[in-house]
Amino acid sequence: MSEEFRQMRLGAAIQRGIEQAGYEQPRPIQVQTIPAVLEGRDVLGLAQTGTGKTAAFVLPMLENLSRESGPGPRALIVAPTRELATQIADEIRTLGRYTRIRAVAVFGGVSQNSQVNALRRERPDILVACPGRLLDLMQQGIVKLGRIETVVLDEADHMFDMGFLPDVTRIIEALPSRRQMLLFSATMPKEIRRLANRHLDKPHVAEVEHRRPVNAIEHALYPVDEKQKLELLKHLIDADRFDSAIVFTRTKHRARRIARQLDSSGHRAVALQGNMSQNARVRAMDGFRRREFDILVATDIAARGIDVEKVSHVVNFDMPNTADAYTHRIGRTGRAECEGKAYTFVTGEDRSMVDQVELRLGSPIQRCSVEGFDAAPLRSARPAARRQTASRKPGSGMRRRRARRSTTQRKTA
Ligand code: AMP
Repeated sequence: MSEEFRQMRLGAAIQRGIEQAGYEQPRPIQVQTIPAVLEGRDVLGLAQTGTGKTAAFVLPMLENLSRESGPGPRALIVAPTRELATQIADEIRTLGRYTRIRAVAVFGGVSQNSQVNALRRERPDILVACPGRLLDLMQQGIVKLGRIETVVLDEADHMFDMGFLPDVTRIIEALPSRRQMLLFSATMPKEIRRLANRHLDKPHVAEVEHRRPVNAIEHALYPVDEKQKLELLKHLIDADRFDSAIVFTRTKHRARRIARQLDSSGHRAVALQGNMSQNARVRAMDGFRRREFDILVATDIAARGIDVEKVSHVVNFDMPNTADAYTHRIGRTGRAECEGKAYTFVTGEDRSMVDQVELRLGSPIQRCSVEGFDAAPLRSARPAARRQTASRKPGSGMRRRRARRSTTQRKTA
């Protein structure tokens, strides 16, 4: 472990946890956040998933909680999705392995019995919760927030997008008035700024690359007819090196259908969308993490905050609705300094969104075409900057992927 981590005034048990997790150097968001949290200050963290923001609040929280003991829960982490809540609880278990600190996650979509049992059995110091289930448990008197010393609002912009701000406000109102608050958000819509202004006390601001996606990512636009999108996707999967990819669709129905179609053409694909049961979602995520599936076909909401190491490609099968959503989606690849590719399929209707995304990125995105998949050239509504166009012949200049399963009949170019 680096000297920088050693000098952070984190106790020996937590340093062992850091070693256990295999973290060598603190990430920039951690360097900026950890000392302020240890001092008890409120923090406004502008960072997206993939930057190491979870450990940025978990490590000093573990340290602060370890200094004294007492009945809990003493810390609360509010997160928008079950996947994120589960991931945070897992990270606490890894980093806090050599401490006495216990965490339990509660979220909706599953029966509350097992969660209530876990709360009674574990008596957690840290509660990780999605807003709806937390309010339910508070109303039933099962969870009380009177002892909370530190609260984290994670992915606050997503909570706003998902309509959770009224719930979040009710949760904040149930907290003791003297408490430390940490608010993390990848973007700062005015509603989040207002929330921060109202509830944070002279916050320390920590900011890393919250606007511009990681430079390591190679972006490309593929103009294509709607009807040819699936064939183009299959072509790219086969022709390019798709180790582990997330494909984003606009609707749950499309996610389900495309995963099924990829699966029946011999690709190891699985859907992740909001209509699936909690068990099916966990199975899909775990399978994707363990590389039982190469391709996860997901909607925006379902994929929020998910953290998978080494996603080689993100494909926007459908253009996202906002430039923010584009940034979030492609933030799934090129993580941890590994290279990533972000391919976006665009039809004529997506022209103005392409402009917005290019404005956000600060440069035009390369246009690519594949023989046999011709669509009308994508002109811009803006008198835009110079654009590059690259032409790809099937298979040319690209490494053909090794066949993983001999039984799989792969389409070759
Ligand atoms: P997050 O932004 O919290 O979703 O973190 C993204 C990924 O980075 C997770 O897989 C973490 O386990 C990992 N991570 C966090 N901090 C470090 C670090 N200092 N060194 C290496 N990996 C880290």
